[in-house]
Formats: sequence, structure tokens, C-alpha cells
Amino acid sequence: MSGFFSKSLIYLKGIGPDRAEHLKSEIGITNYADLIQYYPFRYEDRTKFYKVSELSEALPHVQVLGTIRRFELIGFKRKQRLKAVFADDTGEMELTWFQGVKWIQQKIKPGVAYIAFGKPNNYGGKISIAHPELELKTEESLKSITLYPVYHTTEKLKRRFFDSKAISKIQKQVIREALPHIQETLPPYLKSDYQLIDKKSALVSIHFPKTPDDLKKARYRLKFEELFYIQLRLIKLKIGRAEKFRGFVFSQSELLKTFYEDHLPFPLTGAQKRVIKEIYGDFRNGRQMNRLIQGDVGSGKTIVAFLCMLIAVGNDTQCALMAPTEILVEQHFDNIVQMASLLGLRVEKLTGSTKTAKRRELHEELENGTINILVGTHALIEEKVKFKNLGLAVIDEQHRFGVAQRAKLWQKNDSLFPHILVMTATPIPRTLALTLYGDLDISVIDELPPGRKPVKTIHFRDSHRLTLFGLLEQEMKKGHQVYIVYPLIEESEKLDFKDLMDGYESICRRYPHVPISILHGKMKPEAKDYEMQRFVRNETKIMVATTVIEVGVNVPNASVMVVENAEKFGLSQLHQLRGRVGRGAEQSYCLLMTGHKLTKEAKLRIEKMVETSDGFKIAEADLELRGPGDMMGTQQSGALDLLISDLGADGRILQLARDAATHICDEDPDFVLQKNQIIKRHISNLNKDQVNWSKIG
Ligand code: ADP
Ligand code: MG
Repeated sequence: MSGFFSKSLIYLKGIGPDRAEHLKSEIGITNYADLIQYYPFRYEDRTKFYKVSELSEALPHVQVLGTIRRFELIGFKRKQRLKAVFADDTGEMELTWFQGVKWIQQKIKPGVAYIAFGKPNNYGGKISIAHPELELKTEESLKSITLYPVYHTTEKLKRRFFDSKAISKIQKQVIREALPHIQETLPPYLKSDYQLIDKKSALVSIHFPKTPDDLKKARYRLKFEELFYIQLRLIKLKIGRAEKFRGFVFSQSELLKTFYEDHLPFPLTGAQKRVIKEIYGDFRNGRQMNRLIQGDVGSGKTIVAFLCMLIAVGNDTQCALMAPTEILVEQHFDNIVQMASLLGLRVEKLTGSTKTAKRRELHEELENGTINILVGTHALIEEKVKFKNLGLAVIDEQHRFGVAQRAKLWQKNDSLFPHILVMTATPIPRTLALTLYGDLDISVIDELPPGRKPVKTIHFRDSHRLTLFGLLEQEMKKGHQVYIVYPLIEESEKLDFKDLMDGYESICRRYPHVPISILHGKMKPEAKDYEMQRFVRNETKIMVATTVIEVGVNVPNASVMVVENAEKFGLSQLHQLRGRVGRGAEQSYCLLMTGHKLTKEAKLRIEKMVETSDGFKIAEADLELRGPGDMMGTQQSGALDLLISDLGADGRILQLARDAATHICDEDPDFVLQKNQIIKRHISNLNKDQVNWSKIG
């Protein structure tokens, strides 16, 4: 049956090689399975037909029944557009096309009744719809379809007349052909336990729902299935690894004891102690550790990682620490050297800018075991870098690295896989963590070191800029430093860059005697590093920058974070930025600047920031408001290639699916029971075809 679904779409009636190619290049659809799983992203209620006289700009998409009276071509060549006068018994309106003019003129006939669908606009007193969908009025088209599916499409596809409606048409075709081949993918007992409808009905209803209730059941069934198989895979992966991959067994080390008793710079927080205990448990159970530490900015993850390294080094193995940028590597390196030198350990660093000669030296010393701890960027996962005996690899700020890079670190030891510790300062809500890191064990540092003053967060409208300047002056007089951050969003990169430059100039004018740094993505890495170092050394007092400074940089003397156009940032990002200050003992400020007019959502975000400094609460809110696709660090993650589920909204279904998967893995991990044969077959279909795990096989 899998063969049927991997058939190319050119076999489908109405799709030739040309159209197939466009579907592939524009929306990545190549075969039957892809198409069937290209679900509508929303549904429109099309029970109502509007009269021309009822139309106004205030209405959303509407459908109107009428005839085309005449066409008119306006303008020349590239600027040419086609205007049609469309009328019913109440009046006339315009339909306009800016693209595909010739084709429309040939295809659409005046005097024939059509249903036009689109968004009405008012141009100079005339109602018009641009690029309407047009459908011949027939018995079938008039039959009231309550819920009309809407599919994502692209400008290019639309130009080839592949609008949402056309996609719906080929869905009808493909479903008709595929229906006899669709097999159930969930066992009957799961369906009855969780009240899931069968697969065929779900696929038909998702594309052609008859009632809202139909649609609800179809969505629930498909979401459950999607999340269930993801969880099943993650749990299996975890169990499989635990069984297969033996890990180093570390015992308490003298090294740790010495450091703990004589050199520990501060007492650990309860949360830090708890997490170290959890890790120590992993070190002793004989299996390879794969653990994620989640902890808010400033919660003290570094010392936890360092103490774990001491256990590893004390047990005659080496350690690696990987961070995403050179600046971060620099800071970790300084920090670790300071502590490790007290114990006579050898720490080195390796980054993209390490000179070849030095590199060669490093490679050798890593292989003969002279180096105890290596700190570096992803340069350290290159094949040439070999360790004598790597026992622990720590990855800081996970979201910058992919799962594949994590895997490369395991392979740095031939005899045993090193233990892996991933640290992230982006708190992730549970639902997201289960999906992104469901194969890892998770520890949480949910307590900040004592004596920290929470950062004061204040929202300023642009008109209160003078108050802002007053605060900046007050803080600089105390000798503190200031960040001023501008958004840099790709779609409007030019505008954002101009904002940044304007801001920089006005700050320079305002404070002519204050040394000021500027940092943005267009600068060369060396120039960036240079500016950053000047700020770190307190040679410049103000850092005007785009979000390039966001990750992990530590300048305890900086007490003010000004975020310009704060409404353009997501919550997690604002929280990360706020984490750059409040690292010293004195009161710090996060000042969120916005214009006067704010969208409802932007207002909620700003309010949330002012209200709480708890990273987990903020992450939950962010997930709810924006959905996981927009959250930091999830963009490149294949784990979020979900076909239908929405992690922001489907936490409950995810939990149910996770419970079901956990239960099955406990009871029948190899799927030998009769009742689980459907699961076994489905998984093997998926593996055989090398298709996406969530595909129907
Ligand atoms: P993050 O979790 O963001 O990586 P760091 O490890 O950089 O945080 O720690 C932030 C700061 O807090 C550092 O200056 C560190 O020395 C300090 N710190 C960490 N743990 C404690 C503690 N238990 N008591 C006091 N200060 C601590
Ligand atoms: Mg850190």
C-alpha cells in the first residue's frame, strides 16, 4: 500500500509534469501522500451569498452571484491590468486582475453566471475585488457547503491558477482514488480508549467537512495520530539508547571534593544541588547520559556544568564544552580557566579563528590526553578533532545547534559514547520540550542565586523619551553601562537597519562625550568581536545593537536594557534580552519602548513582560500567543514539522498521546502483541519508505 502513496502526482488526473513541478518547488508536494496530508489551514463559512448592494470594505471575504458584463484592459505592458464589470440585480461592481490577464480573458466568458469570491475593497467609491476566485454557477457549486476548506498557496502557484480552490479540486480527485488504499494506522483498542474516528473518515472530513462536529473529530483523530507516533519514536529512541549504549561509570572524584571544599566561589542553590545529584545518578548507572538542563538566564548553569566536568576529569576522561558563538566561547573559557587552574587542569579553546599551527598542536594534545577540557564553537565537532578519551560533552544554548550536531559529539569516542549534557537558557513549556527533547531526560534549575534584585521592567511610549534619557544619565553617572537594542526582522531589513542607524546617530548627538559601540549583523565577525570586547572591558558605555547580542553575553556592569520597537519582539526574545542585565548586585532596568498604537497581542506581550520575570511563565504565554513556529530556537527543528498539530493549542492531546505511547512502550516495547500489529506495520512502512515519520505510509 505504501507504493500507492509514493506515486508521483503526475499520475493524478489533471496534473501534468508542469503542474507537478510547480507543486513540488513551491510547496514541496511530490506524491499522493504529500497531497493528502496537505491539510486546509482554515475553513470558511460559505452559506451566505451577498448582493452587490450589500458589499462594503468592512466585510471579510464574501461570495457574490452575478454575471460579467464586459472586460476592459487598462494600462500598458507590465503595468497592464484587467477590469471586469460584474453585476447582479442590485448593482455593479468591479473585478480586477493584475496577473494572468490574457488567460483570464480567454477563459472567462461574459454573460455567464459566476460565483465570485474574495475580499471587497472600496476604490474611489467603487466596490471591487482583486483576483477573485471565480466558479461557474452550477447545481453543485450552489449546494450549500457549510465549511469551505482554505489551503495555503503561493503567489507563483496562484499565477498558474493553483489557488486554494484548485487545490481543493485535486484533493477531491486524490481522495477518490486513494480511499480504497488507505489503511487504518491505529489499533482498535486505542481508538476506543481515546474516542478516535477511523482514518478514512478523518481524511475525508478534514478536506470536505460536512459539519463543524465532523471537522472537530477529524482534527482530533489526525492530531492524536501525529503526536502519538512522534512520542512513540522519541520514547523508543530513549529506551533503545539506554539499553544499547553503555556509558562511562564515574565515581566521586578527589578533584571535585577538593574544589568543592576549598574553592567553591559561592554556596550552591538548592536547585543547582538537585540537578548535580540527578546528573551524578546518570554517571553511575552505566548508561550513556543524554540530559537537558533548562534554566533561566543567570540561574547558574555554568558552575553546574563545571562541577560535572570535574567528576569526568577526575575519572580520567576529557571534557568538551561547545557554545554557539566566539564571544560565548571566550567567556566560558575565561571562567573555566580561572576555576580549573586552581586545580592544575589544562584548558584550551578551539574556534574558527584558531590559527592552523595552534590547531595542529591542539589536535595532538587532545589525542595524547594532555588537554583536560576543551572549550569551543562547532569547530570542535569537525572530524579532525579527536580525543584520547572524551567522557563528557556539554552543549551550551542548545537552540543554536541541531540534533545532528548533538549526534556528532557522541561519535567522538570510539569505545564508549561520552555523556551528553545540553544546557538551554530558553525555558521551554512542557509540551514543546516533550516534542523537541522527548528523547532526553530533563532537569530544571528553577531558582536564581540569592541576592539578585529582579530587573525592573517599565513600558515607555515614545513620547516619554525624556524620562528615558533621565534614567540613562542617572545610571551612567553611577558608572553603569547601557544596552540599546533594535529589532532586525528579515522582511524589512532595510528599514530596521535605518532605524538602528538613526538611533545610533541620535544617541551620539545626545551624548557627544560618551564612548558608544555599535553592533549589527552586517559587520564582519572580527569587527563585531572587537566592539563587543570594548564594551565588555567597559571602554564604551553604551552598546547600540541589533539582537546579535542576545545569546549568553555577560557584562555584569550593564544595568540598563533599552528595547526599541519592543512590540516587534516575541516574548521569549524580550525575556532573553532582559536577561543581559541584572547580573550584578545593583538594581537593573529593562525599558520597553513602543509607539502609541499597539495591537492587542503586542499589548499583551508587553504587559506580560512587566508583570513577570519567570522564564517558564513567559514561555507558556509566548507559545499561546504566537505558536511554536515563531518561538526562539524552534525554527530549524525538524521535530516541529507538524502536519496538523499545534503545540501551542494541543498540549492536552499531546499529553494523551504521550501517555498512550508510554503505556505501550512499557507493556510491549517490541510490538509483539497481536493488538499492536497495526502499530508495528505502520512503523515499518514508514521506515521502509524513508518518508517523514508522520506520513501515512
Ligand atoms: P546561566 O545559567 O545564565 O549560564 P551563569 O552560569 O552564567 O548563568 O551564572 C550567572 C552568574 O551567577 C555568574 O556570575 C555566576 O558566577 C553566578 N552564580 C551562579 N550560581 C551562583 C550561586 N549559587 N550563588 C551566587 N552566584 C551564583
Ligand atoms: Mg550561560
